[in-house]
Amino acid sequence: MNFTDLGLAEPILRAVREQGYETPTPIQAQAIPAVLQGGDLMAGAQTGTGKTAGFTLPLLHRLAADKPLRDARGRVAIRALILTPTRELAAQVEESVRTYGKYLPLSSMVMFGGVGMQPQIDRLRKGVDILVATPGRLLDHHQQGTLDLSNVQVFVLDEADRMLDMGFIHDIKKVLAIVPAKKQSLLFSATFSDDIKALADRLLNQPALIEVARRNATAETIAQRVILTGRERKKELLAQLIREGDWHQVLVFTRMKHGANRLAEYLCKEGIPAMAIHGNKSQGARTKALSEFKSGALPVLVATDIAARGIDIDQLPHVVNFELPNVPEDYVHRIGRTGRAGAQGEALSLVCRDEEIFLRDIEKLIKREIPRASVPGFEPPADEKAEPIVLGRMTIGVGGTRRGGGGGGGGQGRGSRPQGRSAHGNGGGGNGNGGGGGGYSPNRPQAGAGSNGRPASRDGRGPRSGATPGSRNSRPGPR
Ligand code: AMP
Repeated sequence: MNFTDLGLAEPILRAVREQGYETPTPIQAQAIPAVLQGGDLMAGAQTGTGKTAGFTLPLLHRLAADKPLRDARGRVAIRALILTPTRELAAQVEESVRTYGKYLPLSSMVMFGGVGMQPQIDRLRKGVDILVATPGRLLDHHQQGTLDLSNVQVFVLDEADRMLDMGFIHDIKKVLAIVPAKKQSLLFSATFSDDIKALADRLLNQPALIEVARRNATAETIAQRVILTGRERKKELLAQLIREGDWHQVLVFTRMKHGANRLAEYLCKEGIPAMAIHGNKSQGARTKALSEFKSGALPVLVATDIAARGIDIDQLPHVVNFELPNVPEDYVHRIGRTGRAGAQGEALSLVCRDEEIFLRDIEKLIKREIPRASVPGFEPPADEKAEPIVLGRMTIGVGGTRRGGGGGGGGQGRGSRPQGRSAHGNGGGGNGNGGGGGGYSPNRPQAGAGSNGRPASRDGRGPRSGATPGSRNSRPGPR
């Protein structure tokens, strides 16, 4: 199938062509016709599947086919509202709206908290067709009377499962109460938990159901590997991997904000430019770090799970779990940052004995064993015993036990989620990771890494010093 077979308007096809996309991804091939027909949609698709274009392209088509609406004050009225869980995702979705809508006479705006209200109020006054927003700031504007949602015709809830995880259910309900009852609603979620189904029942009317790659199936294009090491050696090991592998763009995950800061500081001291992004950073700092990382000017971005959500970079070559996540689903989300939309990527996890419980949970979820290796000189010390990991008010024990902190505060402010979050049925799918142990070198093909063993300089780039900002993500257009 080709994009031209989908019935999208020529200006949209032109913008898509400029992005270099020829073939719709599976979610696009299914979602675009469904949305064009005007009905509601419930789509199961995780990030990296091309879901954003899956709803943005037909949305643009539908809005462009009609005349702009005017609100009571004669301004261009908001006809489409896209809600996302995070600021970063909102910014990226709105960027996609602009990219794909560049040849259409439609306007868009992104709205999130952490920045001043007034510029947003000024922008709203000029009139907007498509609003991409996070729920909190949207409701602030509504309360202040600076936002009119009474003309919304299309409502998109993106990453609905994440929204619920982040405790946005009440905000979502409030938003539903202020948008018109009669509208086209699209719900995108990586999972279909009971909570999501309840939300869908409330929001959607006889929706078309689409599900692409099952949630916990990790992409086949991602080579996954565990590097076993000592608790105290991880920083040094990471610095060595980055240097020896001549990695130019690596996204590194830590569990906690202070861990992200400490690691970024260490790498900088080692002469490897790195920045941390997490919820305590100002929006300005987060945006700056992200754009430098995306452009290729910053080789290492250290992120916590929440901050990293929605980071969308084409062909991000390396993701490193400096610490394994305590929520196994986060592993899937983290490594989904690489190997996106068919590109190949490598996901390494530096694992010490304390984290074996997390590794077991992850492997159970993805229904696959991740090949283990170690790096000479960085093997786990024989006498190192597993110690419990403290996460906010929750302690995770060494023998597979988790002692809860009773609600409240996991490190990232999303509460210490109980362990038994259901593992959704999944087929594992694909990677056929062979081989166990063995030595790991970032500079040689990884035997036993399933279908993904590939030569060292897979991006064919020269030494770090020769890197030019913007040269890496060869995405044409404004990204
Ligand atoms: P998403 O799942 O929306 O976050 O998109 C994942 C990535 O796939 C983004 O970087 C898009 O730019 C890219 N992408 C979207 N559609 C296509 C396509 N049809 N062909 C190739 N890449 C795509």
